[in-house]
Amino acid sequence: MSTVHTHAPSLPAVLQIEQLQVHYGSVQALAGISLTVQRGELVTLLGSNGAGKSTTLRAISRLVNATAGRILWHGADLAAVPAHRTLKRGIGHCPEGRRLLNRQSVAFNLELGAYLRRDREGIAADLERCYGLFPRLAERRQQQAGALSGGEQQMLAIARALMGQPELLMLDEPSLGLAPKLVTDVMTILAELHRSGLTILLVEQNAQAALEIADRGYVLEAGRLHLNGQASDLLRNPQLKAAYLGG
Ligand code: ATP
Repeated sequence: MSTVHTHAPSLPAVLQIEQLQVHYGSVQALAGISLTVQRGELVTLLGSNGAGKSTTLRAISRLVNATAGRILWHGADLAAVPAHRTLKRGIGHCPEGRRLLNRQSVAFNLELGAYLRRDREGIAADLERCYGLFPRLAERRQQQAGALSGGEQQMLAIARALMGQPELLMLDEPSLGLAPKLVTDVMTILAELHRSGLTILLVEQNAQAALEIADRGYVLEAGRLHLNGQASDLLRNPQLKAAYLGG
């Protein structure tokens, strides 16, 4: 792996992955990757199809088990935490494909995101905050999620994840299948959330769009870390330009 930037992050990491390996039967999806995310950072995980990006998020959410290595959350090993308790620990996961309840309303889907919470007033306030952030969802709050456009469904999936009040928001390819204008809209929202202090781990195939809003990036290739560095340096990196940034 080549490192573009040599500065070691100085703050303690909220998320620290050490030599993580994951296998699906005999297929090795991750061959020992290490990465860190600091509080308040927007870190992007890039790479082509099958590189292991989704697997990394699934391992952090405990949806797949590591076969070697460790995932530390605030310094504590996540291995003992079952998948259904990761959100309670502050880890929110907005999965690829959105996984909405298509026949339920926008409002119902959003309330579902808050299923662990009991603070009714806080939930109501966060609902309004989401509607402020995503005005299209406010207009369509009583409509079925399945009737929304692709871009609106992506916004709903992000808003639903926010309703769980995550400390870390992980997103799996939020730009997938969206027209360029909508990709810009999604990235603008993520940049706003980042500015408001949320810690974000963003998986993307759209390296350009992700690096424009990220602080740092990691590039995976066939289950291994290929490059990592400051987003501004990666945007100028010749290897990355050739492979992922269209020359
Ligand atoms: P994509 O953008 O296509 O989702 P990715 O970088 O997220 O790509 P992963 O989905 O993490 O990649 O897949 C990593 C590797 O693991 C690939 O070789 C993939 O075929 C394999 N893989 C993923 N899920 C499974 C599974 N459930 N069973 C077997 N192999 C799997």
